[in-house]
Amino acid sequence: MEKEELWKSVLSELEIQISRPNFLTWLKSSRLVEIKEDGVIVSLPNYFTKEWVENKYNKLIISSLKNIDYSIKRVEYIVESSPKPSVLSKEAEQKVSEKQLLLQETKIDPETNLNPKYSFNSFIVGPFNELAYSAAEAVINNIGTKYNPLFIYGGVGLGKTHLIQGIGNEIKSVYKNKVKIKYVTSEKFTNEVIWAIRNRRVDDIKSVYRSVDVLIIDDIQFIGGKEKTEEEFFYTFNSLYENNKQIIISSDRPPKALPVLEERLRSRFEGGMIADITYPEYESRVAIIKTKLQEKELELEQKVVELIAKKAQRNVREIEGILNKIVFYQSAKGKILGQDDLEKIIADLTDKGVSNISPNQIIKSVSDFFEIMPNDLTGRSRSKELVEPRQIAIYLLRDMLDMSFPYIASKVGKRDHSTAIYAYKKIDNDLTKNPNLHQKIMMIKELVNKAE
Ligand code: ADP
Ligand code: MG
Repeated sequence: MEKEELWKSVLSELEIQISRPNFLTWLKSSRLVEIKEDGVIVSLPNYFTKEWVENKYNKLIISSLKNIDYSIKRVEYIVESSPKPSVLSKEAEQKVSEKQLLLQETKIDPETNLNPKYSFNSFIVGPFNELAYSAAEAVINNIGTKYNPLFIYGGVGLGKTHLIQGIGNEIKSVYKNKVKIKYVTSEKFTNEVIWAIRNRRVDDIKSVYRSVDVLIIDDIQFIGGKEKTEEEFFYTFNSLYENNKQIIISSDRPPKALPVLEERLRSRFEGGMIADITYPEYESRVAIIKTKLQEKELELEQKVVELIAKKAQRNVREIEGILNKIVFYQSAKGKILGQDDLEKIIADLTDKGVSNISPNQIIKSVSDFFEIMPNDLTGRSRSKELVEPRQIAIYLLRDMLDMSFPYIASKVGKRDHSTAIYAYKKIDNDLTKNPNLHQKIMMIKELVNKAE
């Protein structure tokens, strides 16, 4: 049977077995890339999805594959990020990148690849990114000698690219031409390596990357699993490292959670400074909004600022989106928007975020995640397996909907609201210390937001 057909029939079976939103979210863009002797390789669009599918649907997938072809015993999941490397000719690649360049509002420095809009000064600091920020400061003041490599990780839209480019821009402005800097995404690096191998120009790449003083690599998670690229990166890394050159890396997860990375590379990363950027709390969100307003020379009432901070919880990018829309509407309409208009814009943009989530949606998503029945979660059973799901449900009801503790307690089968307070505090507290829990919560939030 053909790959496409095989996968199509697996998907149609899965579609019946899992809920519609889950199917659309996690499996719709999956692809079967290869059929091997005893298994298949399935590609997914990103690591978040890969982890989710691997943990939650692997068994189901294997059993539906087995229904069709009994020799299939295992599934390997890979991440295939678009655009695919190496399909474009060099000319075509150049055209694409020219087009992208035109779309940029600011000019990217061709020497360093840095975008001046990500300045170090405009990076807003709060408890959620303090650690990463002070590590960045230390690197600027002690290039190559203090924290090497500097490894920054965190979820999307939280400012990784801004911070690592900010370091580059700051070094550039302080040390002028004395320090050679290069910024590259791991996707671009991969493309270059592949192109160089094809055209027998690997030495060019070597000389370019090994002659810099500061190498900044963004989204390193995309490098893993591509053998040649990883090897090239490893040698580049070593050569720079041994010569006390600074290496700065960003990733969507910590080194030990980079799934396909070679051990030797992982241990190099762990030998430097690792700092995370977490989700901004309410106060930081207010600070971010106020600073961005100043930058945009825009004024909003305190009430509106607070409303945005309350609604835009996901990341800094979401906050920027809202402010940009407001600027756009104001200049398009040519007048200052009234309170009602503003509230409508915010509600529209955070639509999926917070405004119309119901408590039942949260209960359902938590149950889906832990594969238990909603009735068990809200019932009175004291079964051990229900402890964590209940605590997380309590936490989310409070965090996402700001519901009162007595109400929350009644929702999850507790007589006493002090239990709900305890559970909320526990999760809230554990979240900062336990990346695993944090990941779980973010995955469940994602589910809640996607639920219909
Ligand atoms: P990531 O690389 O982590 O996905 P980005 O660096 O692209 O996130 O950040 C998304 C947007 O939010 C960018 O426009 C960036 O300038 C802005 N941003 C993120 N964090 C901050 C911050 N601490 N201060 C100012 N702007 C920020
Ligand atoms: Mg980024």
